[in-house]
Amino acid sequence: MRKPIIVGNWKMNKTIADTKAFVAAVDSACNDNADWGIATPYLALQAAKEGAKNLIIAAENCHFKDSGAYTGEISVEMLKEIGIEWVILGHSERRQYFGETDETVNAKMLQVLHNDMTPIVCVGETLEEYEAGTTKDVVKTQTVAAFKDVCPNCAGRVVIAYEPVWAIGTGKTATNEIAQDVCAYIRSVVAELYGQEVADKVRIQYGGSVKPEGLKELLEQPDIDGALVGGASLVEDSYKAMIAAL
Ligand code: PEP
Repeated sequence: MRKPIIVGNWKMNKTIADTKAFVAAVDSACNDNADWGIATPYLALQAAKEGAKNLIIAAENCHFKDSGAYTGEISVEMLKEIGIEWVILGHSERRQYFGETDETVNAKMLQVLHNDMTPIVCVGETLEEYEAGTTKDVVKTQTVAAFKDVCPNCAGRVVIAYEPVWAIGTGKTATNEIAQDVCAYIRSVVAELYGQEVADKVRIQYGGSVKPEGLKELLEQPDIDGALVGGASLVEDSYKAMIAAL
């Protein structure tokens, strides 16, 4: 039985003050029907962590090296120092705008897992790839690359977010059937790599214009164990509506 996990991805939104107010308003509303979380910009992580009793607080990125001459970067040690144990990796915006590759995503996966933190690793096809019918090839390549050299013990605690790029921030969502089909396929890829027992442990989220209204039905899909939510996670009332929906 996999516990659903819903994580808001705030991207480059909200100040520290905004974050404190959001956490104060939402944290106590969280229920046990899912793991609830938010990924905030680095600067707001500490304030979010200090205010959160229930919410998982995640970073949106990290570096793959321990320390060194990497101007502008943040290490996992720095995140752990303020109590952060979750990190989103390989979001399509990072792949698209910041040169993230399958190789850097893999290096970050290894760094995060070796430091006993939990990655939420994003995979998903672009609109072009979707229209060309290559969705499964793309997510397979990204998934296999992300898990390179990850040991079976670590693999089971990874969260995968399937996010079709064409559905992120566009208001277009994959139908539940399409999302289920791709998430089941991703699980089969993990099973090929590690066996069914590990694959059955891995939680797979769908992300792409998720709204509170459709959340319950989305999570009724057998291979969809949660959601990575952008826009709808920024508004206190809609986050609370997601909590109330489960
Ligand atoms: C995201 O940022 O990962 C995302 C899915 O955004 P949105 O829900 O706004 O499409």
